[in-house]
Amino acid sequence: MPEETIFSKIIRRELPADIVFQDDTVTAFRDISPQAPTHILIIPNKLITTVNDVTEEDEAAIGHMFVVAAKLAREEGIAEDGYRLIVNCNSHGGQIVFHLHMHLLGGRPMGRMVARPRD
Ligand code: AMP
Repeated sequence: MPEETIFSKIIRRELPADIVFQDDTVTAFRDISPQAPTHILIIPNKLITTVNDVTEEDEAAIGHMFVVAAKLAREEGIAEDGYRLIVNCNSHGGQIVFHLHMHLLGGRPMGRMVARPRD
């Protein structure tokens, strides 16, 4: 079994977080260190460590993450101007927390898609 992260504790509400959405499949909460006016993390309730660990049985959950992202973007008032969805994987992707998560970032122009490490 993969090792749990703080995100599992947030899902179970054992750690405080600003949860903006939760159902049986997905939890979404505000990033503790926001990089944009809206910065929400959308995660599967099932512990999937990285994108490399996604299997066919996760397809519904991964698809649902996008449905929730679109719903939250509308609620945040950023749908029309647009936003960025990011999923980091392992060290080159810049992944820090090893529980798969989608960043929903918006509320300002998000700039270049990919920054070089010195940026
Ligand atoms: P990543 O680099 O894709 O693994 O991003 C992990 C994200 O989790 C970072 O943006 C952190 O600010 C965020 N984060 C870490 N701990 C917490 C927490 N307890 N509550 C909310 N966000 C967190």
